[in-house]
Amino acid sequence: MRAVLVSSVLAVLLSTSARETATFAGAAGRDDAATAAENTAVSDEDALAQILSGPKGRESRWTERPDLVVLTSVLAFEGGLRNEYVALPDRLAAKEAEQLASDLGAALEPLTAGVFDAFASVTFESATPRHTVAVVRDRQIVVARFHGLRKSLDAVGYGGRTVRHDGAIASGTVMLDSEYDHTVGLRRLLRMHELGHALGYNHVASRRSIMNPTLGSEVTEFDRRAALIAFRRK
Ligand SMILES: [Zn+2]
Repeated sequence: MRAVLVSSVLAVLLSTSARETATFAGAAGRDDAATAAENTAVSDEDALAQILSGPKGRESRWTERPDLVVLTSVLAFEGGLRNEYVALPDRLAAKEAEQLASDLGAALEPLTAGVFDAFASVTFESATPRHTVAVVRDRQIVVARFHGLRKSLDAVGYGGRTVRHDGAIASGTVMLDSEYDHTVGLRRLLRMHELGHALGYNHVASRRSIMNPTLGSEVTEFDRRAALIAFRRK
């Protein structure tokens, strides 16, 4: 196995509205498959605080079932993390797009402790080449493949969310490196991990978790505990 490498992306202020300021928080994942060692020196309480609140100590969660928008046009990852990107002529085949929606749909239930058993709706959307496509949209999780993401971020994916001041998540974004997501068997874990960020989770290294900064773990008992706290707490 290759070395474990951690890559985190700083929160970037992406959008503001008249009512509230939203920040795009998320992180990118390396592709090196490795299972994190459990660190029992870290208490359960601290590990749960990491995955739920992250380095900023701020929890965020969806209060309503999000819509899923699958962009079937590949986008050009240029200019870093942004609200919108330019569409390329490349398209996902219908089967590929359906598999992507299916993988994210299957990940939703365990990551929300069953509170959301499906997305409110699933929409497949293509764009005219060279046109600009928004990837941050109210009440939606937008997923797309990006050409050049890996080269630019030195990571194979990025998951983010915009969060209102009360901690409610306004939008989610799942960005996948087009080459990696097209070819590699670990992409199901990548999709689940980036969806985790879009749903409000942060990296945790002290427990085996789908939110380990390095891909390799499936959803664990620890993740199910975190989901219960995040989504079932009144
Ligand atoms: Zn991550």
